[in-house]
Amino acid sequence: KRTGTGWNFNNGYAQLPKLFYTSLSPNPVHSPKMIVLNKPLAQDLGLNIQELQSEEGIAILAGNQIPEGAMPLAQAYAGHQFGHFNMLGDGRAMLLGEQITPQGERVDIQLKGSGRTPYSRGGDGRAALGPMLREYIISEAMHALGIPTTRSLAVVTTGESVIREINLQGAILTRTAASHLRVGTFQYVAQWGTEENLKILADYTIQRHFPNVESEENKYLSLLKEVIKRQASLIAKWQLVGFIHGVMNTDNMTISGETIDYGPCAFMDYYDPATVFSSIDTEGRYAYSNQPYIGGWNLARFAESLLPLLHDNHEQAIHLAQDALSDYNHLYQKNWLGGMRAKLGISNEEMQDESLVNDLLNLMQKYRADYTNTFRALTFNTLKDMELFKSSEFIDWHKMWQARLSRQQEVKESTQQSMKNSNPAIIPRNHRVEAALEAAENQGDISVMEQLLHVLSNPYEHSSEQAEYSKLPDPSTRPYRTFCG
Ligand code: AMP
Ligand code: MG
Ligand code: MG
Repeated sequence: KRTGTGWNFNNGYAQLPKLFYTSLSPNPVHSPKMIVLNKPLAQDLGLNIQELQSEEGIAILAGNQIPEGAMPLAQAYAGHQFGHFNMLGDGRAMLLGEQITPQGERVDIQLKGSGRTPYSRGGDGRAALGPMLREYIISEAMHALGIPTTRSLAVVTTGESVIREINLQGAILTRTAASHLRVGTFQYVAQWGTEENLKILADYTIQRHFPNVESEENKYLSLLKEVIKRQASLIAKWQLVGFIHGVMNTDNMTISGETIDYGPCAFMDYYDPATVFSSIDTEGRYAYSNQPYIGGWNLARFAESLLPLLHDNHEQAIHLAQDALSDYNHLYQKNWLGGMRAKLGISNEEMQDESLVNDLLNLMQKYRADYTNTFRALTFNTLKDMELFKSSEFIDWHKMWQARLSRQQEVKESTQQSMKNSNPAIIPRNHRVEAALEAAENQGDISVMEQLLHVLSNPYEHSSEQAEYSKLPDPSTRPYRTFCG
């Protein structure tokens, strides 16, 4: 029963135990205005673009009106924040419902910045325009890079201010996700629910994301293994493009394997494994090179939550969990090395490939070479400008690499094609993102962001139009810092 607007909700989460969420209505805002709408995504969701842009459509994206069939709720969850366990939950977000797309997929529709909920603690439940546009830009860039992620459907301003250090324009992001189930959702139910509750959550998760394990003998162990697999794949993809999430708390890790919660995230320019952008990550817990380890740490928290379901005997359950977790490092490493081989155009496997890769990375670090542009220059054999390429160490490495490529069947053209497909020309450079946000926030000019989004939508194209966007920031600019929105 698809209506004229295209909204087509079917709300599975709202059928789960009341412990898992709080039903509520969004808090209306003063004067909503559409800032950006993701038309291709709207189309995929089966939404009517005309209707979405109408007064009623915008009212829905602002939380001023509830679309037919929606059952808004705030989800409860917990999480380890920088290692410390806390009760959390949607403090400024609400799930409108699950949209069934024309292709039959089930997609969460969430408003972020929609007002206070029972999980808001001291917060105002609101969001500022800049951080919501930032999430929009980076999540869409990640999607275009081929990295699993939540998506951004729209940003509307509320016509109200939010008070941070200064007054900022309030905004609401409409976010879509395969689901908003988090490691922290399981931690919450394991901590405050019954074993029956936990089973219901796990069964719901399996039905929604891993129907293939339904008939397995120990389907909860299979669930654990599947989530480990997805995170090992996801985090390898982050490392391969130089993405730093910035706040990998367990509440910010999905069960579906999608990247979620774009707060202080950023892409690194010059290669340095210790790179941290987030102003609050003073210990470097979520530094670039620590992300794979933290992924494993978070998965261990997930496994702990599942223990009662893994085996009736606690010792046996622990044994099964440890066994599953021990696969993570190996899976991650395999994904990462496979991805690095592709970035270097290597199509078969040799024992020494890992050290060939690490030798390059060490040189990149030593010469502060730009991560993205180095691989792009290797792809097109334009090895001129950078300090790195003039060094004799690099020239030696380059000979080793060429010798390595000669030990495979591929013709030059297909090697280059594989490199083009693995080495993006375009990432959301921090200074470009900032310029887009500045224009939108201070000049009300959205065109800079639209042009950036256009270029980011095709990151592997390597067209001349993009050249400007692969340039580095002025070296005199201060180190880039990010803040939690
Ligand atoms: P995050 O760091 O964005 O992952 O958020 C951590 C927790 O703080 C989540 O429970 C959020 O819902 C909550 N939170 C963040 N900002 C606000 C806000 N302005 N008002 C209420 N809750 C918030
Ligand atoms: Mg979060
Ligand atoms: Mg957040």
